Amino acid sequence: MNNNLTRRTFLGCTAGLGCTAGAIGALAAAPPVEELVKNRPPLAASAFYRLPLTSVKPGGWLKEQLRIQADGITGHLGEFWPDTGPNSAWLGGTGEGWERGPYYLDGLLPLAYLLDDPRLIAKVKPWVDWTLDRQRPDGSIGPEKNKDWWPAMIMLKALTQYQEASGDPRVIPVMEKYFAYQSRTLASEPLKSWAIYRWQDELASLLWLYNRTGDAGLLDLAQQLKAQGFDWRKFYENFPYTGRTASGQSRHDTHGVNNAMGLKTAALWYLISHDPADRAGAAVALSALDKFHGLPNGMFSADEHLAGRNPSQGTELCAVVESMFSLELDMAVLGDARLGDRLEKLAFNPLPGAQTADQWSHQYDQQPNQVLVSLGRRDWTTNGPESNLFGLAPNFGCCTANLHQGWPKFAASLWMASADDGLAIAAYAPSEVHTKIQGVDVVVEEHTEYPFRDRISLTISPASPIRFPLYLRIPEWTRDPVIVAAGRSEEGLRPGSYHRIEREWRKGERVEITLPMPVRAVPGFNGSVSVERGPLVYSLRIGEAWSKLRQTGPVADWEVYPTSAWNYGLRVDLKDTSASFQVREEPVTRQPFNNSSPPVMLQAKARRLPQWVIVDDSAAPPPQGPVTSRLEDETVTLLPYGAARLRITSFPVLGPDEPPRGGE
Ligand SMILES: [Zn+2]
Repeated sequence: MNNNLTRRTFLGCTAGLGCTAGAIGALAAAPPVEELVKNRPPLAASAFYRLPLTSVKPGGWLKEQLRIQADGITGHLGEFWPDTGPNSAWLGGTGEGWERGPYYLDGLLPLAYLLDDPRLIAKVKPWVDWTLDRQRPDGSIGPEKNKDWWPAMIMLKALTQYQEASGDPRVIPVMEKYFAYQSRTLASEPLKSWAIYRWQDELASLLWLYNRTGDAGLLDLAQQLKAQGFDWRKFYENFPYTGRTASGQSRHDTHGVNNAMGLKTAALWYLISHDPADRAGAAVALSALDKFHGLPNGMFSADEHLAGRNPSQGTELCAVVESMFSLELDMAVLGDARLGDRLEKLAFNPLPGAQTADQWSHQYDQQPNQVLVSLGRRDWTTNGPESNLFGLAPNFGCCTANLHQGWPKFAASLWMASADDGLAIAAYAPSEVHTKIQGVDVVVEEHTEYPFRDRISLTISPASPIRFPLYLRIPEWTRDPVIVAAGRSEEGLRPGSYHRIEREWRKGERVEITLPMPVRAVPGFNGSVSVERGPLVYSLRIGEAWSKLRQTGPVADWEVYPTSAWNYGLRVDLKDTSASFQVREEPVTRQPFNNSSPPVMLQAKARRLPQWVIVDDSAAPPPQGPVTSRLEDETVTLLPYGAARLRITSFPVLGPDEPPRGGE
């Protein structure tokens, strides 16, 4: 069926690896799986290709994060939240029939298959079956009452993942028929509202199908979508929004989640256009957002609209998980090591930082400088008084439905295939990858406690010796990295790039990677600095008093009050930053993103700044540095951002002490 397959086959569930999911229900009968499919002409080649879902198996602390998620809100949401419950219109009921059902499935589904969890797979099945079995004769899918193109765009993303994990033969015909319907209908019922700004999410699924069927009509449909959709590349090339979105000025293109989704547009369109400007588009977009709206956690402000660089502005959780998904797709097309750096920064900082460590409660808006979590009137662009509570659906329920994709899609994207029939590491975390290269089964185990430690150990086990290239990401932040492959030291390692090792690999051969993590002070708003070490951002540890506002089923809504001071200026030698901090390592526990026993902490000298106070329920902007204080130096502790639900992340820098005044 596909003249474009490579010589490898990727098994979603290799014999002998505990394929318990295969033991239940109709899904069991489906033959897993899916061969690696590369881009079909006339599409441009990608640098890397995402592996079929379940090729990467999370391990270590990352597997525990997914397990905690399964035991937390993701594994139970439909049991008490009506919008993803049995009355959803996406299950044939009379309830919510827009984006929330598909959003939930888009995260529940990869979580279920990555954990190979029969209980979760059983939850996935009714959603998938209803959409696949209730396609109308004209080809349209989803609830009859929905007249918006947008929700089906999300469902298509879920269906592509389902096809890869299950091999279910219903998926491709349903998608073909749906796209044919849309091709006939789009001229008379064009994209409207959200769909104009999110057409690129459908493009990803459309290209996925084109590579499997070669139907040239799909590329015509892509052109129609682009013609009706927003031009994100041109928008970022002449980026108009250089400050906080003013009251009454919010639009679809100032909307944070739309921007997060838009980050994938140029790279995906490059596959069709072959235009170098599209190839450059992801970097142009990130640099525009960083320059005018960048926050020290790696995100841009989005509360709910672009809000400038003050670290007390918020970022909606949907914007975090959608940025991650965009970066995962960008990484595959472009193979740019710096995109992996950014993806890790989001996964290890703002993703856990907006949720409780047990993954039951989440925030709508998180703040890098977050000193009070409460019902309050904060200076958001348009969001309401609940937005920074930890809870079930603070402010609005979109994040409640959409947060689930963050961890599982990240885990599934750690490893990718390279265009030249090798393997590439997009992001580092404990995992195993199972694949076939030139017909030979290959397993690579990645043992590491990264990002809490700087060493990564790979064990490469082909069934028989085989030659292939391995691409190792050298993060831009590391200094003097070391790679020893099968006993031989690699040379020419350049931070911010990929290091390629091509050799004949034999069973059990090891690659030892050390990525030293010097502490960095990153300049920010008002002359402040944020502190990073490796991919982790560090924040001031603040005592937290949790106060329950209400309970809905198993989920509580919480306020969090500070029980210790937060208004510190940091004593940091900007010429030798590492010398200003002491690194303390502790064991990596089951919930590494908790504030009582984090796996790594920094200690530093700091001084209280009495002039820095709370304004409108948030920390005022950091006072312009360098700052002075007449109070004594204290030793303060910095935690990983994701472990600190109250935090200061942008610190004013202490200048030289004022000379004592005469007479004092
Ligand atoms: Zn949201």
